[in-house]
Order: sequence, then C-alpha cells, then structure tokens
Amino acid sequence: MPTFDTLLRELRGKTPEVDPQTLSIELRDGRQPAVIDVREPDENVQGMIPGSVHIVRGFLEQRIERAVPDRETPVVLYCASGTRSVLAARTLGELGYANVRSLAGGFTGWKRAGLPFEQPLALRPDQEARYSRHVLIPEVGVAGQLKLLKSKVLCIGAGGLGSPSSMYLAAAGIGTIGMIDDDVVDASNLQRQILHSTERVGTPKVDSAEKTLRGLNPDVKVDKHATRITADNALALIGPYDVVIDGADNFATRYLVNDSALRLGKPVVHASIFRFEGQITVFPGAGSPCYRCLYPQPPPAEEAPSCAEAGVLGVLPGIMGVLQATEAIKLVLGLGDTLAGRLLVYDALKTRFRELKLRRDPKCPTCGDGVDRTQIPLIDYEQFCSR
Ligand SMILES: [Zn+2]
Repeated sequence: MPTFDTLLRELRGKTPEVDPQTLSIELRDGRQPAVIDVREPDENVQGMIPGSVHIVRGFLEQRIERAVPDRETPVVLYCASGTRSVLAARTLGELGYANVRSLAGGFTGWKRAGLPFEQPLALRPDQEARYSRHVLIPEVGVAGQLKLLKSKVLCIGAGGLGSPSSMYLAAAGIGTIGMIDDDVVDASNLQRQILHSTERVGTPKVDSAEKTLRGLNPDVKVDKHATRITADNALALIGPYDVVIDGADNFATRYLVNDSALRLGKPVVHASIFRFEGQITVFPGAGSPCYRCLYPQPPPAEEAPSCAEAGVLGVLPGIMGVLQATEAIKLVLGLGDTLAGRLLVYDALKTRFRELKLRRDPKCPTCGDGVDRTQIPLIDYEQFCSR
C-alpha cells in the first residue's frame, strides 16, 4: 500500500499545475478556464478567486456537471495550499474531464502573489437554515436570497392587504419592509388584518406590524411610518424602496402612489378588494400601463364604497395580499412574468380567476406619449377624487 506522501507525489507528477500569475493572465485575457474552489465553506468565506465557483470537494462528483457541463472545458481547481486540489483533479480525470489543472500553492499562493480576491456570497449559518427552501430553488439560490435580504419593499397600509403581504415578505427575508399607516388597531380590523391581535387593539398599527414581522423574522428591519402618505411626503417616503405594495383603501391614495412611483421609476404592485372580489396588477416602474390608464377618472364616491361601508370577506385580502407579495418577490429577483399589463380578477364566490389585458393609453397624463415622467405634478388628490 502506498503511503499518502507517495500517492500525492505520484499524483502531482501526473497533474498539470498552473501558477497564480499565469492563471490571473488567462482570466484577464478572457481565456476563461472554469475555476473551481474545492475548499470547505469555513475556508471559502475568507475570500475566493473572482469568478470562481465554490464546490466543496465532498460534492465535487455530484455537482461538477452542473458547473462545467462540457468535459473538454479547461478546469483549474484550487484549495488552500494545492494538495486537496491535486486529489480532486484525479476525481475529475476519472469523470472524463480532459483538461484539469491544479493551482500551485492554492488560494494562499494566490493571495501571497498579491492577486485580487473577493468575498464570497454567503449566508450566516442561521440564515442557511431559515432560507434553505429558497436556496434549494435553482432560480433563487444563495445569490437570490442575498438579493432579497438587501431589498426594500414599502407597504402602503398595514391593513387587510398589507398584513399578508408584509408577513410573507418578512418570512421570505426581504431585508427592509416599510409600513405606512397612521391608524390604530380596531376590533373590526381583526376579521382580516392578521398582522394585529386582540391585545393590540388601540395600539398604532405600525407598532403592531413591527412586533409581528420582527417576531417572524429578526433579519427584517421595519421602517415605521405612522403617517398618511400625501403629495408633500410621497416622494420622500417611496424614494428609498425598490418595490411599492399598494394596499390603500381609497382612490386618492392610489392616484398619488401611481403618480409618485412613476416619477421615481418604482414598480407598484396594486390590489383592491370589494366584498367577494379582488383585483391585482403590476404597474411597472419604467413601463406602462399605469393606474391612470386603468382608471382615467376616479369613480363618484357613491359608486366606490370602502370596506367599512360595503364589507369584505375576511379571507379575500389574504389571497390578494399573498399574490402581491409574490409579485414583489419576483420583481426583486427579476424572475418570471409579472402582472404588468394584465389585471387578474378573483371571484371568491365562483372560485374563478379572470385575466383582463390592460393597454397603455397614449393620451395618459402620466405614462402617455411624450410625457416627461420626472415632471409629473403631484396634485390635491382628495379634491381630484371628490369632484
Ligand atoms: Zn398611464
């Protein structure tokens, strides 16, 4: 039986090596060998060669085909000092990889040569557990989860729609959730506003929201805005966020949110609810159509009763709010097709979803032809809606 030293010597003799300088020139010149980091996770967090892919050596056989599907692709393996990468090269040779080299001196040699390295994308161990079911989805992965953790979503209203949307956003690890609501919890809210609870009746909704969301996920920072959104503060309120979830219960706020978000180029996930029916769509930040294309004029007040006047099935905002959270997460991750240009209508009595196509109105005052969106005026929306 050979000792480890003889085995290693023999393998070194068979495995071509590349020195750090040569590899850095190859990478700079765009020759792009696939560079694979085979170290353990606790070593990899110290830094890695830019552009390299981390595959722990124990998973090399299982995962190399996904990272390097073509066995003719030149591969460079590295570990900390250049020993484990030689052993790993033998494995890849056995799998039919024809052009495998080991980085001489490993990552230590790379660093010693003064070459650049980057911090790897990594979750804390507690986050790895919490978000494992996201990380398992190839379209999300660690990079997607880190994107969610860095993202900021603003919920207009901590009520029926804001409750389920913010709770799922918090659970998903949206790093910052803004809640705008100047109201206090009322007993009549509890039939649907699941952020709140019986013992919080009388307390500000934003405080109750923070307690629930932080209790669900301490990774989440909750920005509490115990105020009404108005033409005076809308741009400052919306500005810091990536996505707006409009859960407002009145037309004045919806027009205001539309106009301000268009001015700032922020996407709005809009939903509304009425008795047994809900509607949802996305007004894309840079695109169209917008809320004014859908509703050029506010309806007369008597035709647009609020939940307080008309009633609403308690579970309905749950469904629509969860759809809003889904759209917001897709917008943050840049995944799939959003509801931009489509109005999804849910009829709870018939258990039926219908989809209506929304078209941009070329004459729309906020997203029409030739409109300079940076100059969209923020008007007196209460007055606009009470005409
Ligand atoms: Zn429009």
